[in-house]
Amino acid sequence: MQSNPNHNLAVGYHSRCQICGNEHLEPVIDLGHQAPCDSLLRTHQLTQPEATYPLRFLRCPECSLAQIDYVVPPEELFYPDYPYRSGITPSLVKHLRSTGAKIIETYGLQPGALAIDIGSNDGTLLSGFKDLGMRVLGIEPTNISKIANDAGIETIQAFFSKPLAAEIVAKHGHASAVTAANMFAHVAGLGDLIQGVETLLQPGGVFVTESHYLLDLIETCQYDSIYHEHLKFYSLRSLIKLFGYYDFTVVDVERIPNYGGSIRVFAAKGKNQPVKPAVAALLAEEEAFGLYGSEVFTRFAAQVRKSRQDLQRLAIQAKDEGKTMVGVGCPGRAATLLGYCAMDSELMPYIAEQSTSLKLGMFLPGQHIEIVDEQRMFDEQPEYAVMLSWHYWEPIVAKLRQKGLKSKIVLPLPELRIIES
Ligand SMILES: [Zn+2]
Repeated sequence: MQSNPNHNLAVGYHSRCQICGNEHLEPVIDLGHQAPCDSLLRTHQLTQPEATYPLRFLRCPECSLAQIDYVVPPEELFYPDYPYRSGITPSLVKHLRSTGAKIIETYGLQPGALAIDIGSNDGTLLSGFKDLGMRVLGIEPTNISKIANDAGIETIQAFFSKPLAAEIVAKHGHASAVTAANMFAHVAGLGDLIQGVETLLQPGGVFVTESHYLLDLIETCQYDSIYHEHLKFYSLRSLIKLFGYYDFTVVDVERIPNYGGSIRVFAAKGKNQPVKPAVAALLAEEEAFGLYGSEVFTRFAAQVRKSRQDLQRLAIQAKDEGKTMVGVGCPGRAATLLGYCAMDSELMPYIAEQSTSLKLGMFLPGQHIEIVDEQRMFDEQPEYAVMLSWHYWEPIVAKLRQKGLKSKIVLPLPELRIIES
């Protein structure tokens, strides 16, 4: 095994690549100082000071990892009331539940084998394994773990750690599969995480991660997926580099549509495991796209700046004409978009969310835009409705139209588009 750069990041500024330790990172774009995107505020907090942190996006010319260079204290990001719940987004539920079936089929896992999900949220992913007869265990630091336990998915409320991995093995035995869906790019203690997974897995067991994919981010200008939780933006090449430092072989990969484009990577425990052709194919695609050079990143940064000017222009013009522009949906990424574009409650008086949302009555960090029940938008029929989950816009807009929304729909990215009907 190669010598291991430190993959456990301390809080604060980092000048080196988070995977290979290269000191010469190339800045791509500076999104300014921003509040952590899921730290929604309650009314009484609006009169209190609010912390912001640098949000700079850089690339490593050595291993091709893109990354931010500041680590916010994890307890400020994943606090116990963390409002994100995977089980209320139907397309995500469907995907998460299918993950188990896919892994069981590919790896021939037997009923009664153990599957563990790290960052298991409300247990939706594990329910897919459980329905197919596997034993399951979730690990989730926030209070959402209670929802999972209530639904019969055994879940430990804790941050995952090496000591916890050892305790789990002592109590439940080794796992055949460990999953980490969409948290693998978020964790500051990545070295400990991977070593903990090594402990959990039996030899040949599979570690399946899903992460937002750098190529999709660049191709569709999703700069709004850059936020403090999201420390790394993986290419396949950078993930192979990462797993090379540990007792794993990246054996398979697939692109999946989640979060505007993700990669699901299968890493088998042990070196020199047989590798599927999909790995070489995707590396070739990354190379052909230009993901290992600086040019596509320069173009990306220019497109980000232009999209900001276009949205600001439309907002100010609407304001001048006495028209209203509101936001629709409040994913974490909305905070980066609206923060970078300096949309405050003057330009965007509220963000509409469905009535089941846990975020109603709270305020977007930084910009202090209130999140309200979407009924208000149907009652008021504003001139413009900006899709903040623009990467999922089609089903959302279809549903809003069905419910009677007449507003012009604004897609802020990859370039500003206005849809009138
Ligand atoms: Zn690097």
